[in-house]
Amino acid sequence: MSASLEIPSGRDPERNRNVQVAVPLPLFQEFTYRVPDRMEAPPAAGTRVLVPFRHRKLVGIVVPGSPPAAGLNLKDLERVLDPDPILSPQLLSLGQWVARYYFSPLGEVLQSMLPPGLLSKPSAPEPRVWPVKTRMSIRSIDPSRGPDLTRRQRELLALLAARKLPVPVARFVREARTTHGTLKALAARGALVLKPVQVYRSPWLDSDPPPPVTRHSLNPDQSRILNQIERRLSGGGFHSMLIHGITGSGKTEVYLNAISQVVQNGGSALMLVPEIGLTPQISNQFRGWFGSEVAILHSALSEGERFDQWLRIREGKARVVIGTRSSVFAPVPDLRIAIVDEEHDSSYKQGEMPRYHARDTALKRGQLEQALVVLGSATPQLEIYHGSRERGRPQAEVLPRRVLDRSLPQVQVVDMRLEFQKHGKALILSDLLRELLRQSLECNDQALILLNRRGYSAALLCRSCGSTESCRNCSISLTYHRDRNRLLCHYCGFSRSLPTRCRECGKRYIHLLGEGTEKVQEALQDLFPEARVGRLDRDTVRRKGSLQRILSDFRRGRTDVLVGTQMIAKGHDFPGVTLVGVLGADQGLKLPDFRAAERTFQLLTQVAGRAGRGERGGRVVIQTYFPNHYSLKAARRQDYPLFFQEEIEFRRRFQYPPFSALVSLLVQGRDRNATLDLADRFGRRLLEHRKRIGAQQRLRILGPAPAPLERIKGEYRFQILIKAVRRPEALEVVRSSRDDLSRKGVNLKKVSVDVDPVNLM
Ligand code: ADP
Ligand code: ZN
Repeated sequence: MSASLEIPSGRDPERNRNVQVAVPLPLFQEFTYRVPDRMEAPPAAGTRVLVPFRHRKLVGIVVPGSPPAAGLNLKDLERVLDPDPILSPQLLSLGQWVARYYFSPLGEVLQSMLPPGLLSKPSAPEPRVWPVKTRMSIRSIDPSRGPDLTRRQRELLALLAARKLPVPVARFVREARTTHGTLKALAARGALVLKPVQVYRSPWLDSDPPPPVTRHSLNPDQSRILNQIERRLSGGGFHSMLIHGITGSGKTEVYLNAISQVVQNGGSALMLVPEIGLTPQISNQFRGWFGSEVAILHSALSEGERFDQWLRIREGKARVVIGTRSSVFAPVPDLRIAIVDEEHDSSYKQGEMPRYHARDTALKRGQLEQALVVLGSATPQLEIYHGSRERGRPQAEVLPRRVLDRSLPQVQVVDMRLEFQKHGKALILSDLLRELLRQSLECNDQALILLNRRGYSAALLCRSCGSTESCRNCSISLTYHRDRNRLLCHYCGFSRSLPTRCRECGKRYIHLLGEGTEKVQEALQDLFPEARVGRLDRDTVRRKGSLQRILSDFRRGRTDVLVGTQMIAKGHDFPGVTLVGVLGADQGLKLPDFRAAERTFQLLTQVAGRAGRGERGGRVVIQTYFPNHYSLKAARRQDYPLFFQEEIEFRRRFQYPPFSALVSLLVQGRDRNATLDLADRFGRRLLEHRKRIGAQQRLRILGPAPAPLERIKGEYRFQILIKAVRRPEALEVVRSSRDDLSRKGVNLKKVSVDVDPVNLM
């Protein structure tokens, strides 16, 4: 008896032919559709389908699950859009995990996992089924037709015979000085075949040669860690580890070697970085090592480029993927290693729905795909470092030295209170920093000056009545920008002209308070008229290409001093920098956020790490009014363990992560009272459900209270903060409360849930 007899025909009316579909709408449910009889088998999970939804059509994705067998008024699937599932079972599971853990609608999560346009929003008229770009090309030739042709036509065929086909028609027309018409005539005679051929839109020009690479032989510390990685890779299965390597210890070199191993063994690799535009060296290094195997994903690519990169990855043509946050979802087949560089960086957390953390998502993906996940940082996030002492969490491996025995820079902290007493006024540069800058310029060395505030001045104050200029829409003071000669809101973009008189009292005692990068640049230029002073912040990189220009000018020594915001602290490797100055190092310490000290320490350590990466050693000057704060003391000694010891005690005392899990709820709205009402309602539900599960002792619910930034873009903001000893209990009370309210028809669109928030402002 043949086995095939036992396979059901698929047309059995008793069989459940319904499927569950997630649609890209902010809805916390999936929908059931019938597979019409005209379709053979139900489409597999991960396949896109066109479905009727209310009064329109949507592109959704079939998701796993057991749909109800029968239902009243079930609608039919209209069309299956993909021959094969577009998302692998593992990526679908990852999406389901993200949706559940981060309280995000599954359809929206799946949408953000795919290139733009593949899951259309309701406003899109027709789905873009497969937005590849093609170019009409000469596919093949048949010269056997020679005798019937003119001499010129035969010449063209001979030219073609000497070339690698396919050749784009436009290019051939140009090069052979012929016409489209001639080629069409040849095609009509069957002498050649014209066909559209897919072309990849690439973020770099094809004419760009892959940059040359220097492969260093690894030092003993690097080799030891590479061995650890190889051991874990060869065993297969899920593993995770943390490379805690100081700045300049050569982490990237270890990553490159590990990836190279993976690729040689036929696997694929994923590397996440915080920002690509800021550190073009890294993508160049990757291209140099892996050539056309590299795919790059980040938000500055055009939609077409992003789609093509995605397609190359999916087809296994690019087995090394480097990208920012969302590339954690790249459809890499046979993933063996995922690296999250600078894992502490806050850009890994998405600030809008779905509010996932790419590092934690990468760890989950490693579990699902049985791959190795490597986290790297000089300043690991406190929770990660703390966890590395526990079993089952990423274990730490240390790179304690800089490459080539280069020393860490010498760091000095300047107490600005003493500087003020000495001079009787507040100066931008301390005596020490000014003197070191002078020396640095004299030796033709380079310097970086960090001030984490853009614009010219921080605020506008009337010295007569004490009023300040705030934004009309946000509870934040306006920053004066000299470039544009306007006051600007950094949250909503509102701007107004600089008043000559105070708006409150009408007097002319308007004073610009505090300084930003624009003013520092100006002050440096005044002090050192000969020096070439550049500036790197969001304002100077607004125009396309200017970021690359500023960075390459500095790298090539066409700029002596670069002033900038935290953008200058990120992973750069500028060997000419011997001096780093930090102004207003303590600004961040005053923010009402439990991560303030950690952020300050990270920023100082990272920016200090930019000094002395070449042969000449480096010095760092940190100016502060709080020289005794432990984050400054630890940064001065570049001593992570010292910082950790102090910070972990603070976290323990106040039950902050890693001693609790946080969930932050933000309720926003234009009407203050209605917004507060909704926040109160949600808050009461949370209390009820906490009682129901008996978690009163383990769950603290704080608020609702006005968020530190009480109003943004005209909307009031109220916050509820949940601190839980056990994370699942926090998720449970939020879920139940949300479901209760939405069953009652309460509109929860303006309530956002942020699990493991990194920003509490
Ligand atoms: P990190 O990411 O740890 O700050 P990088 O990977 O950027 O450090 O390395 C710093 C510099 O040292 C780079 O210019 C890199 O090419 C170089 N480098 C890395 N490993 C070695 C080595 N074993 N020998 C010599 N130079 C190295
Ligand atoms: Zn504003």
